[in-house]
Amino acid sequence: MLEPKLMKGYNKMRRTVIAGNWKMNMTPSQAKAFIEELRPMVEGMDKCDIVLCVPYVDIAVAVEAAKGSNIHIGAENVHFAKSGAYTGEISADMLNEIGCEYVVIGHSERRQYFAETDETVNLRTKAALAAGLKVILCLGEVKEERLAGITDEVVSMQTKLDLAGVSAEELKNVIIAYEPVWAIGTGLTATPEQADETCGVIRATIAKLYGAEAADEITIQYGGSMNDANAAELLSKANVDGGLIGGASLKTDKFTTIVKAAN
Ligand code: PEP
Repeated sequence: MLEPKLMKGYNKMRRTVIAGNWKMNMTPSQAKAFIEELRPMVEGMDKCDIVLCVPYVDIAVAVEAAKGSNIHIGAENVHFAKSGAYTGEISADMLNEIGCEYVVIGHSERRQYFAETDETVNLRTKAALAAGLKVILCLGEVKEERLAGITDEVVSMQTKLDLAGVSAEELKNVIIAYEPVWAIGTGLTATPEQADETCGVIRATIAKLYGAEAADEITIQYGGSMNDANAAELLSKANVDGGLIGGASLKTDKFTTIVKAAN
């Protein structure tokens, strides 16, 4: 396997991306007020991309509220069909038309509670990319897998399955969020070393699949109880190119501190 550390630091082009995942929080009026408060707080912080992934009904309001700022808006999921008899679902074209730029796919809560599999995650990823959306692809091991010492195999397999059929060109619109399931919403955070090491395994898998240059260019975030207190240390690691943030993205001051740490 390609040694991840070899890639340390030689690419200055990799974008750091700080993305909030609001989950099922915030009504449209709350979303508007949040973004109006956040805008001046993060103004000029352009050394990272700032994204808020919000509930479907908040997207249009959020896009409007973020207009002209450095805040980008994303969705939290997308269906893989272009249109049709899928009651309650939302297509990539629908997201595109209302100014949504990003979409989170494969979040562990979707996998855990809504029967998402690597197969459906892959279908959604391909549909989103084909429609021109940027994908934040979530993957990570559960606690039992880490304890059994098979984290590397699990994340490597997920990377392969979730990206099956995605071209090298399309990969440029993919961000991978490494999210150990045991760390999401639990207050337990991977140590900076664990985060760096596993992001490195994912990068090495990308190198095998797409070559060293693609591996060097892809943004790999860490997610799992990242907050204003631990972000700087996690983000200082060579293979950690940003964060996907749940709880701490619901408070403008905490989220701003994380964005500052990335700057
Ligand atoms: C998430 O929702 O992707 C997440 C990492 O949540 P939290 O930061 O609350 O653990």
